[in-house]
Amino acid sequence: MEIISVTPRGYCQGVVRAIRIAEETAGKHPGETITMLGMIVHNRYVVQKCESLGIRCIEDSSRTRLELLDDIDEGIVIITAHGANDAVFAKAQSKGLQIVDATCPDVEKTHTLVRSHVEHGDVIYLGKHNHPEAEGTVGISPRVHLVSSVEEAEQLEGLADVLITSQTTLSILDTRRILDACLKKYPDAKVYPEVCNATRIRQEAVLRLRDTDVLIVVGDPHSNNSHQLARIGQDNGIPRTWLIENADQLRDDMIAGAERVAVTSGSSTPNELTQAVIDRLHALAQQ
Ligand code: SF4
Repeated sequence: MEIISVTPRGYCQGVVRAIRIAEETAGKHPGETITMLGMIVHNRYVVQKCESLGIRCIEDSSRTRLELLDDIDEGIVIITAHGANDAVFAKAQSKGLQIVDATCPDVEKTHTLVRSHVEHGDVIYLGKHNHPEAEGTVGISPRVHLVSSVEEAEQLEGLADVLITSQTTLSILDTRRILDACLKKYPDAKVYPEVCNATRIRQEAVLRLRDTDVLIVVGDPHSNNSHQLARIGQDNGIPRTWLIENADQLRDDMIAGAERVAVTSGSSTPNELTQAVIDRLHALAQQ
């Protein structure tokens, strides 16, 4: 069995930066109450590491960031790499919390674009429902319209002076399909696809795979970019794709009969987890 270690994979600059900000905050404020407003990045091992430094994480996918703030009454609040909207910052300030902002600069770039456009027009934002990055961007203005599928694009009505942009971690293939549907409705729309470079080059590396029987994506189930890597593998015709969190979840039947197995990982997955999966595959290949 040949094992292909896909590159690039793993941590992106935005994730590295967010983890560094969290670690530095813990280092500079020993003994103070520090709370992450959601998972700092979508990987539970990273969150556990931050918790071991004394940072509390409040995460509840059924509540918005604004609602989660009700649970923080003192100390420092860390805005996660996914960003947050102005109402979250304003509420944190009004509660007297010290804000540490770990928003990825790529997400911030989209916010700047959207803020400027809603002053005179509507924004179609291609993204995922109930994802914190989409929540942060859609919350900028009622003129931002979240679209997550071709069907939703077909239902858009009454928008003017339209700009189309997107969540940073979408599939480059899905984005194209939904974008085309939006352009059918609004052919004059300006288009600024914001799938970030880190997401794009990781997906393109999977799209370049040929004659691969199995793709293993190492990533957290919360991680949208990990799910999208698995989806890109399917779209590329790889017969079996699996999203696993760690080497313990790798089962023999996942790779049974495979001649070529490729491994990649989400941009929030610690490298040691991916390496452990690759090591396990090498051990299985020698059996
Ligand atoms: S995946 Fe892209 S947007 Fe998200 S943290 Fe990484 S660089 Fe930033």
